[in-house]
Amino acid sequence: MSKDKLALYGGQPARPTAWPNTYPGALSIGAEEEQAVLEVIRSQNLFRYYGAATPSLNKVKSFEQAFAAYAGAKHALGVTSGTAALMTALAAAGIGPGDEVIIPAYTWIATATAVVWNMGIPVIAEVDETLTLDPDDVERKITPQTKAIMPVHMRGAPCNMERLMAIAKKHGLMVIEDTAQANGGYFRGQHLGTFGHINAFSLQYSKMITTGEGGAVLTNSHELYRRAQAYHDGGGIWRKTEGDLGDFLPFTGVNFRMTEITGALAGIQLGRLEGLLARQRAAKARITAGTAAICQAKGFAARPSNDAAGDVGVCLVYLLPDADAAQLFAKALSAENISAHTLFTPAVEDWHVYYHWGPIMEKRTANRLGCPWTCPYYEGQYAYRPDACPRSLELLGRAVHVDLSPMVTDADADTAIAGITKVAEALL
Ligand SMILES: *Cc1c(COP(=O)(O)O)cnc(C)c1O
Repeated sequence: MSKDKLALYGGQPARPTAWPNTYPGALSIGAEEEQAVLEVIRSQNLFRYYGAATPSLNKVKSFEQAFAAYAGAKHALGVTSGTAALMTALAAAGIGPGDEVIIPAYTWIATATAVVWNMGIPVIAEVDETLTLDPDDVERKITPQTKAIMPVHMRGAPCNMERLMAIAKKHGLMVIEDTAQANGGYFRGQHLGTFGHINAFSLQYSKMITTGEGGAVLTNSHELYRRAQAYHDGGGIWRKTEGDLGDFLPFTGVNFRMTEITGALAGIQLGRLEGLLARQRAAKARITAGTAAICQAKGFAARPSNDAAGDVGVCLVYLLPDADAAQLFAKALSAENISAHTLFTPAVEDWHVYYHWGPIMEKRTANRLGCPWTCPYYEGQYAYRPDACPRSLELLGRAVHVDLSPMVTDADADTAIAGITKVAEALL
């Protein structure tokens, strides 16, 4: 195919209209959310632990029970954000001064900042071709200071939890999964966010299901749950609502408590999750199958998966031969009305890649002493360098990313297949 057929060079685009928007949970908000929130407002009871409604509507509690049952975990705790969920999980796990925590080179910066706020040192490891944490590099990054590993199921793709859990077990490390981008995903039939000792989810506006802001923690450990509960509700250790304290001794906590309005929204959104996932996964399967032959013919590939069936389906990622090819491919695809972008460009600031994490790379903290990096308890040597994870930068630089959503119909998927085929034929 000649290049002048490409929309980028003035040709007819593969589809006439813009590519469907993402925000799966947000765009599904409807009458049920309205009803549930109205119920809370009319009860005048906005607080989970006490209030005007008799009996309490228990929206947060109901969400927690439903979420734990859905994922197959013993305990769920609603919190105010995904960042709060990460901080709560790390605090419950006892991460503190002097502890190194291994995180991937490709994740939202909150994974790193949550470690810093617990006074730990984030240590950055490579991602592999799945664009999730590379188990081999995790092993290389383990030092006597390492206390935990944080697998991040980035863009809905499951990490290799079998290998990561085995490594953690061998070295006696805690595992805290960041499942913010993979709610509803699984690895070999088990829900993501139930492998690690205590794990975090986000309900922020751009995630699979949403309450605008919100988050949750999952764990199978009663002790870690108790610690998470105490940390997230630092003023309420006397609360009998959550069962007997037993011999649990309170420590200083914060306030990350979820409101009843958020709980009401979360409960309804959770009920929508499987339906949203099914449509999204169908779109991904259709496009992946429809582009397999052109990938083969033109020497590019869909990113491999640790478990394709458990992928959430929020996006397609293709690995191109090099960064220049990827840049042009993404530009050409966007011109065809299939909105695409690459995942790393040195000149374009993006806090999903460690290279651009200014506050971490330059150790800029809110306190004037620069804790935790200056902490006398820290006996390690870890140093941040922009070129610390060259393999990750190389992979992300030649990755072309297309957002998917439950709004992508079969007809939309077919335009994507046509567009990807057209661009590959013209450019590769
Ligand atoms: C969104 C996100 C977070 C933080 O969640 P918030 O609810 O925005 O605080 C953490 N980690 C990853 C991977 C995310 O995508």
